[in-house]
Amino acid sequence: MRFASNMAQIIDGNRIANEVRCEVRLQLEKFVGAGNRVPHLTAIIVGEDPASQTYVEKKIIACKEVGISSETKALPITTTQEELLKLIDELNNDDKVNGLLVQLPLPAGIDERIICNAVSAAKDVDGFNELNIGRLALDMKGIVPATPLGVKTLLERYNINTFGRNAVVIGRSKNVSLPIAILLHSDGRNATKGMDATVTICHRYTPPKELTRVCRQADIIVVAVGKPGLITKDMVKPGACIIDVGISRIPDEATGKFKLVGDVEFDEVREVAGHITPVPGGVGPMTVAMLMKNTLNAAKSQAGCADK
Ligand code: NAP
Repeated sequence: MRFASNMAQIIDGNRIANEVRCEVRLQLEKFVGAGNRVPHLTAIIVGEDPASQTYVEKKIIACKEVGISSETKALPITTTQEELLKLIDELNNDDKVNGLLVQLPLPAGIDERIICNAVSAAKDVDGFNELNIGRLALDMKGIVPATPLGVKTLLERYNINTFGRNAVVIGRSKNVSLPIAILLHSDGRNATKGMDATVTICHRYTPPKELTRVCRQADIIVVAVGKPGLITKDMVKPGACIIDVGISRIPDEATGKFKLVGDVEFDEVREVAGHITPVPGGVGPMTVAMLMKNTLNAAKSQAGCADK
């Protein structure tokens, strides 16, 4: 829907994330009321990267809000891969832990793929384990990574029609863009309830002219690169839905501090788009909310009462 001002409708990630958190809280109360233990999330963080610390803090705050119990295992930057694997093994075997995540990125010398695969698939609430990604690729039920699930939820709750539409996903990372592309193109009749769009995937070797060409044909653009200003007004078809996953921290000339921006030239693109997510306040809050949903669902599955 376009407004009379002809400006794109803002997709309010804070509002939808709040809705999702309320739903999780209600479902959790029902689950616990039925005699099940309060779901528990353990987050492991290695080193002292300030951005990672902030992300983990946000997740712990969200847990408190929805009633999930949680703890952070903060390990020093000197932690070896073997030590981290040992801790993951202990937590995999701890019945009290329903959800387990290892905050990325990890320090040099630790192989992220080995670590993601070590987290038990049943507790892998980030959905980064090869089994969960494989299940998603095969349209089978599993745990879907939180950011892609958040993008899907925003499209659904804003009634963005994806069926048979052209979508472009910019970025091909295994934890973010690839699962988004899988959800967008896959069959809505299958267990993962895909979105039936026709999807083009772009990456750093897509020539800029080609990127512009495919974007101009897109009804939906999802951009997850981390390059401010990548998507400009001339690349957007009038009325298209723009989902900006990118987050970059850049100096703010007005305040002399730092500010967060996405990959989209927001002010000019909103003049042509039909819908657009802001940064911050778009996809970001959805990621944390979907993590809460994944944790509750993991606890339900482990208790043998998963949703159909
Ligand atoms: P990533 O692993 O660095 O992937 C970035 C992708 O962008 C790569 O596939 C890369 O292509 C592609 N790329 C780089 N330059 C490009 C260009 N000029 N044109 C087209 N594609 C280009 O990052 P990520 O983990 O996927 O995250 C992407 C962005 O999303 C980051 O800004 C991150 O901070 C943000 N993010 C946000 C959330 C959220 O909750 N909002 C969650 C996760 C990530 P190659 O594969 O060819 O290198």
